[in-house]
Amino acid sequence: MARTKTPEPKPAACEVCKGTGEVSRTVQVGRKRRTVGKQTGFCLNCLGSGQAPE
Ligand SMILES: [Zn+2]
Repeated sequence: MARTKTPEPKPAACEVCKGTGEVSRTVQVGRKRRTVGKQTGFCLNCLGSGQAPE
């Protein structure tokens, strides 16, 4: 997902989770990688703070 970055006042929101501290990812099973749903997980980029790490 490439989007044009816009300058934001500090603290900058994490790019990965958009500042929410959580990321949703699809859950896939089997060799066919069938999508069975989505799961909300802890954002590892900002460690859940929602702020972009420096
Ligand atoms: Zn994040």
